[in-house]
Amino acid sequence: MSSVADADRVADLARQVVRDHDPKKVPIPEFLTATYDAGLSWVHFPEGLGGLGVSRGLQAVADGILQGAGGPVPLGLNPMGYGMAAPTVREHAQSEELKRFWLRPLAGTQDIWCQLFSEPGAGSDLAGLATSAVRDGDEWVINGQKVWTSLAHRARWGLLLARTDPDVAKHKGLTYFVLDMHAPGVETRPLRQLTGQAEFNEVYITDARIPDAHRLGAVGNGWGVAMTTLMNERSALGGSGARRGAGTIAEAVGLWAARPDLQTPVLRDRLTQLWLRSEAQRLTAQRSRATATVGGPGPEGSIGKLVGAELNQHIYTWCMDLLGAEGILYHSYAQDRDDDGDWRGPIQQRFLRSKANTIEGGTSEVMRNILAERILGLPGDLRADAGMAWKDVPRG
Ligand SMILES: Cc1cc2nc3c(=O)[nH]c(=O)nc-3n(C[C@H](O)[C@H](O)[C@H](O)COP(=O)(O)OP(=O)(O)OC[C@H]3O[C@@H](n4cnc5c(N)ncnc54)[C@H](O)[C@@H]3O)c2cc1C
Repeated sequence: MSSVADADRVADLARQVVRDHDPKKVPIPEFLTATYDAGLSWVHFPEGLGGLGVSRGLQAVADGILQGAGGPVPLGLNPMGYGMAAPTVREHAQSEELKRFWLRPLAGTQDIWCQLFSEPGAGSDLAGLATSAVRDGDEWVINGQKVWTSLAHRARWGLLLARTDPDVAKHKGLTYFVLDMHAPGVETRPLRQLTGQAEFNEVYITDARIPDAHRLGAVGNGWGVAMTTLMNERSALGGSGARRGAGTIAEAVGLWAARPDLQTPVLRDRLTQLWLRSEAQRLTAQRSRATATVGGPGPEGSIGKLVGAELNQHIYTWCMDLLGAEGILYHSYAQDRDDDGDWRGPIQQRFLRSKANTIEGGTSEVMRNILAERILGLPGDLRADAGMAWKDVPRG
């Protein structure tokens, strides 16, 4: 089928979803489940799994119609689910039945997902993680501690990377699982952030059990599976709005228009520069989506992650500069965690939250290392533990 015919089919299906399940009238889970059943959650996924098996670039056609009619941005409601779990489950779950079991409630946001990767001693050096998984018949017994786990307190399922073989080099001894966050032995404790909210958590795992059927990929191939998650995470974090002038820059332009009393020529120049950089980022993301077919994103996802994170911070810094003394007033320092997965508070909160952009999903230094090594072909980072068995690597 030609891509024009594919685009027409996607548009027809999207209009039908909107007709039958008007997002302004029905509950969001109903609308998003209907979107999944129509194959419009991830159009490049296979039919029956929330997709249509067409080019990834056509997602913009579906989203334009669904969101244009008042539908939500699903990534904002179930970020780890849509951005990372869905592509990982689709590619690596052991059966079609399990894929369907996980993907439909993920898409409908009935099941929120979280990502159990980082540990107190393993963030940038993720492959050095220590949480263990030991086989016991048809199950695995998990022990360890994860940290910075966004939305773990609301999650039904967690993407878990654990060590199954300490006797081999660190990347080789990992296995990837889906952890039931309600299982006995899984304890979630809040961590308060700069914004006052507790969007992320520490997760303590003590003798929690996972059926072997919930392993993603082969034993010892956890690093390979984690690459699916991480590349999609960077691509999701670095993706910018499909529409010109949308996203973070729209907030800055809106603030500028609302506050003529605070405008200066210097601030206008800076805003123009930020607008141009946002547009360059949007077009770069669009170009990368247009060239993508049904495959996953490659290391180039790190470009969007790196540029988008720094640009976000610059835009919110400009907002604070425009507001001047008003910017230091933070009215809603609510010590809550009922953020509903939507982190959009007042602009001051978004300024504070943006500080995390250059850390979450891999720091900017790590993004530069990836781009240097994997895109530019520059010499690799120094790796003192290369080839050593994980158990012999000194740890603090
Ligand atoms: C808001 C937020 C949400 C998060 N959500 C999740 C989540 O849901 N799940 C999850 O698993 N994790 C999550 N994280 C954790 C995040 O992935 C880690 O914080 C990040 O990978 C950095 O790891 P670290 O904090 O251990 O810092 P470290 O790795 O200790 O890094 C410290 C500093 O050293 C630099 N550095 C480290 N190695 C190198 C190197 N080789 N070359 C150059 N510089 C280097 C870093 O850039 C950084 O500046 C979240 C973090 C934040 C801030």
